[in-house]
Amino acid sequence: MIERDLEDLPTLVSLCKRRGFIFQSSEIYGGLNSCWDYGPLGAQFKFNVKMSWWKEMTRRQDIVGLDAAILMHPTVWKASGHVDGFSDPLVDCTDCKTRFREDHGGQSKDGKLACPNCKSTNLTEPRNFNLMFETYMGPVKDDAGIVYLRPETAQGIFVNFLNVQTSMRKKLPFGIAQIGKSFRNEITPGNFTFRTREFEQMEMQFFVKPGMDDEWFENWKKTRMSYYDRIGLRQEKLRFHPHGEGELAHYAKAAFDVEYNFPIGWQELEGIHNRTDFDLSQHQEFSGKKLEYFDEAAKEKFLPYVIETAVGCDRLCLAVLCDSYREEVRQLENGKEDTRVVLRFKPEFAPIKAAVLPLSKKPQLQELSAKVRDSLIDQWDVEYDEAGSIGKRYRRQDEVGTPLCITVDFDSLEDNAVTVRHRDTMEQDRVNLDQLRGYVAEKLAQF
Ligand code: ATP
Repeated sequence: MIERDLEDLPTLVSLCKRRGFIFQSSEIYGGLNSCWDYGPLGAQFKFNVKMSWWKEMTRRQDIVGLDAAILMHPTVWKASGHVDGFSDPLVDCTDCKTRFREDHGGQSKDGKLACPNCKSTNLTEPRNFNLMFETYMGPVKDDAGIVYLRPETAQGIFVNFLNVQTSMRKKLPFGIAQIGKSFRNEITPGNFTFRTREFEQMEMQFFVKPGMDDEWFENWKKTRMSYYDRIGLRQEKLRFHPHGEGELAHYAKAAFDVEYNFPIGWQELEGIHNRTDFDLSQHQEFSGKKLEYFDEAAKEKFLPYVIETAVGCDRLCLAVLCDSYREEVRQLENGKEDTRVVLRFKPEFAPIKAAVLPLSKKPQLQELSAKVRDSLIDQWDVEYDEAGSIGKRYRRQDEVGTPLCITVDFDSLEDNAVTVRHRDTMEQDRVNLDQLRGYVAEKLAQF
């Protein structure tokens, strides 16, 4: 058997569409550039990814959760630097009309900036283009009503720092975790769900005493890498990329990206940043409200430093899909090749944990299969499927990453047992129905 990894994104895009994971947004209208909808299996899968991150964060004693509004007071974005600084310089080519990011342009022979499309140097001056989406609050569309769709979830955490700290009686160091939609009017979105204009972020801001920040920064780097290891991403596909001086964001003292080797190459999956007290001090200044933490033991007040871990939920979903995709190619006896496509993710991510498959559509088998399904559904996402040949049904479940297939056959009516097939080894066990729940729990834990 030869095993192949995912070679390119279009292969995954096609699987995701065919199997109900991800569809192009507004497809019947020709789609909307870089917007994607999660289908039935994708929605469950994405939910599982979020739950994995949420549990990882909020089950710690030193982290609590938050769900802040997308729309915030517009001054938040002045304080955070997004109104003035969150922009890319754009250039238009006056010959072929291509619009491109200044740093994506080419060079002409005389060293001038050139159009990456037609190489012309007849270009407009660079103009800053703010990446924030604007909308209006209330019935009148004037400047006084402008609000922004948040470009990051972090600011909802900063402005709530004292609310959370006092209501939850938290002492430093502690963190606030949040999952939510963010919006950026990206100039060059693309590569499927890798870069979109509407996306979900999973961000955690960890507040520490100044002076403890370097230690916590290192600590979070280790913790996040070991998380990725534990959820099954292959270690050789992960690495750290430190930000050099020129790359550091305006708020950061230090920053490392966790990069994943996608089919499009090494790309950022998560950012880990030492944001210092930049955000809290900006909000303190712009709001006129003190945001200092009172350290009772030392009887001193100060603004905490912040270590941020920020991962895109859609990007992590994409990484998990890419990482778990395998093509298994087998030589058949008749000389032909057979290819089995399988998503080998951990059961915690699988949208369907077990599929119950009656061998045929005979009413007795349907009835017993329904009973089997009902006996598991309170604890696991179980699908019942009777359409098509058993071989095709197995292949469909492999392609959507279902760890276990439970087949109900004619013997089941006699021996009160079913055949359970394992996704990765394709081995089969005969299991008595009285023992099925225990068996499923045990097998799912072994993947
Ligand atoms: P990039 O350099 O790729 O534009 P960034 O460094 O601006 O990203 P952050 O602001 O650190 O990204 O956001 C944290 C995480 O949010 C990123 O690591 C990424 O996983 C995710 N993310 C950011 N922008 C997008 C986007 N347009 N589409 C999907 N996910 C995104």
